[in-house]
Amino acid sequence: MAAPRVAVYTRISRDDEGEGLGVARQRQDCERLTDLRGWAVAKIYEDNDVSAYKRHVRRPAFELMLSDLADGLIDGVVAYDLDRLARQPKDLERLIDLYDERKRRMFATVTNDVNLGTADGRTMARVMVAFANKSSHDASRRIQRKHLELARQGKSSGGPAPYGWQKDGRKVDLVAAEHIRAAQKQLLAGVRIGTIRTDWQRRGLAHPREGTTRLPHHLVERMLTNPRLCGYRTYRGEVLLDDDGHPVIGAWDPINTVEEWEAVCAVVAERKQKYPGRSLARKYLLSGIARCGLCHAKIRGQINRHRSPNSKGASFSYQCSVVNGGCGKVGRAGEAVDEFVISLVLAEQRERAASTTVREGEPWPNASELAEVEADIAALTQAAKAKEITVSTLLQLLPDLERRRDELKLERGRFSKARHQAASPSVDTLEDFLSLPLERQQALILHSLSAILIHPAGRGVRKFDPSLIEPVWR
Ligand SMILES: [Zn+2]
Repeated sequence: MAAPRVAVYTRISRDDEGEGLGVARQRQDCERLTDLRGWAVAKIYEDNDVSAYKRHVRRPAFELMLSDLADGLIDGVVAYDLDRLARQPKDLERLIDLYDERKRRMFATVTNDVNLGTADGRTMARVMVAFANKSSHDASRRIQRKHLELARQGKSSGGPAPYGWQKDGRKVDLVAAEHIRAAQKQLLAGVRIGTIRTDWQRRGLAHPREGTTRLPHHLVERMLTNPRLCGYRTYRGEVLLDDDGHPVIGAWDPINTVEEWEAVCAVVAERKQKYPGRSLARKYLLSGIARCGLCHAKIRGQINRHRSPNSKGASFSYQCSVVNGGCGKVGRAGEAVDEFVISLVLAEQRERAASTTVREGEPWPNASELAEVEADIAALTQAAKAKEITVSTLLQLLPDLERRRDELKLERGRFSKARHQAASPSVDTLEDFLSLPLERQQALILHSLSAILIHPAGRGVRKFDPSLIEPVWR
């Protein structure tokens, strides 16, 4: 039988600087691995972009490789690591689909980080890609410092002027400002926001977009309590403070004095305390955490009263709802979303626990063994880099050491968790998780994620697609 013919895929990643992992080196290592497995290199696919995690960057070689794989021109893929192959859940799912379709396809990475040929490997790959997205997200936070810089100078961050101001966002729109002040006065006199909202809708005031007549509750609340009203600059939803701890003052004319604004905020906060969570009705795990990928409104769970073929036997769905101010266009079977999100969160918290060191009490007894194993791994990797040993030797020695290292880390995590049971929120298994009260489950989710975006699935798509569930990591 002829040897399987596989693709070698290479791509420069931004982490490669200083690691000497140029394309030539990646290719060489991949070729050696292919050799080691007794396969033959059919073709080298090489992409040059440095940002596979950007959603809209097309990678021509990657696309060609997928279609060659689908057409049976190649029997599998060898890459340096998963990170170079797929950083977007969408790309990963397309690749996984091809491996699902035909079971005998080959797959290997030089770092041996994942195997798409097995179900466990695919789950692992999904979690890894979600993490890669998290670190890209961390990088994009650095870019956001630029926005923070603008904010510190009290400059507006662009976008349309909020209700109450003229188009330039600086001068007050006198008529709108009068409506705001009148509503605030009502609020102070005990009128509910819901009543003000109904009144504004009827009079056609402050519609977010022209032609719409709906005015979501939270938007009215925001318009009446926005820190901008008294001139405070906000950043990511919070009042921005300067180095001395004073609020940064924006470069626009205020509508309220600070005292007026604080009084309105106090009334709203007080009422929320009186009726906590009344409007939230959190009966489902991700209610209030899940958001619509199209309109970004919060999504709530709802019972599937009639089990249509579309509900896939699920007992409830997360559905973007017009009633709650959303577009109503996105929904997903509830159980599948919950299960995927729980597995992501547990994996993240396990990793976090494993990297926490013991801070008090007796030290973990196996610390020296772990240090030895890690030193061995470093020495081997170094030796391979210096070409003192071959990659195949490295690949033969590494897996056992890595397995031991991971076991030890897990053990240390458990040890540490036992010592800090109260402090650490981590839970080991799905069963543990599901045995907790719902509020506690939600707290655990919110410990790792600030939101879950549910992106629209095409019509008639029956299979649950985890790449359309986007975690927003904390
Ligand atoms: Zn929506």
